[in-house]
Amino acid sequence: MSQAGWQVDPESGWLVENQTIGFEIRWRLQRLLHHERSAYQDIVVAELERFGRALFLDRILQVAELDEFIYHEMLVHVPLAALPAARRVLIIGGGDGGTLREVTRWRDVEEVHLVELDEAVVRVCRQWLPQLGAGAWDDPRLTIHYADGFAFLEAAPAGHYDAILVDCSDPGTPADTLYSEAFYRTAHRALAEGGCLVQQALSPFIHRDVLTTILQRLAAVFPQRGVYFCPSISYLIGLQAFVWGAKGTNPAAGPARTAPDGTRWYTPESHRAAFLMPPALAIFRASAG
Ligand code: SAM
Repeated sequence: MSQAGWQVDPESGWLVENQTIGFEIRWRLQRLLHHERSAYQDIVVAELERFGRALFLDRILQVAELDEFIYHEMLVHVPLAALPAARRVLIIGGGDGGTLREVTRWRDVEEVHLVELDEAVVRVCRQWLPQLGAGAWDDPRLTIHYADGFAFLEAAPAGHYDAILVDCSDPGTPADTLYSEAFYRTAHRALAEGGCLVQQALSPFIHRDVLTTILQRLAAVFPQRGVYFCPSISYLIGLQAFVWGAKGTNPAAGPARTAPDGTRWYTPESHRAAFLMPPALAIFRASAG
């Protein structure tokens, strides 16, 4: 049987993910909420046992209700708390709204630009995962641009953004160019003095080779760069890596200011702990910041 074009076991109703990294992920489907094929990708929102509502793009899980706050808080508050101030913030990708929600909690942010390739992701997530973006979609500081993140950044004024947060899909998807050295060069140009770029960068164990390559490309552009980690439950990769590159700010030194109230994972302690490099991660130490 096939449900929404997915491979589903007829007896049990397990959804099979489209992973190609040496193991198979099967999700117990409670309810298929939405399925469509946009101009860019296959989009599914489903209710999963234990993990809650989840968004899949091209059959790869992007966010799940159970733990999305860990990823989004650590992607946003680590760089924003390390900066003395953040007036202009650019989000590339992030069409589910979780990163946007966390950015808009900072009152000193004056402008947020969200550059999402696929209008359909925003529309579907606003309808089926409304708690992800919460009220942030209606924030007057927000401008949404439906465009390719790389092309958008190439046209951006130099020295413009205090923070660039790249919340994109993995390499091998429409986000592939966002992991190139040319992209990091463009981002470096668009960052203000003292600014910081952060990007999701898969896992230090399962994708060690990919993360190493990403860090090499960053190092070719940003003298100040590194990696930090947070737990990853729904991606089933143990640790989620974030790479950063900065022009004068060092997020590895810890927070420079207090993050908004109400975070569930981010604290000054979890900020500093994210930069710990135990021996098993020693190969990333040189680029730890
Ligand atoms: N947290 C997720 C993860 O770790 O996989 C990312 C989620 S977010 C939904 C990823 C978004 O990046 C998608 O909505 C996708 O359409 C968008 N995206 C992919 N390539 C892009 C590009 N080149 N420019 C802008 N957005 C892009």
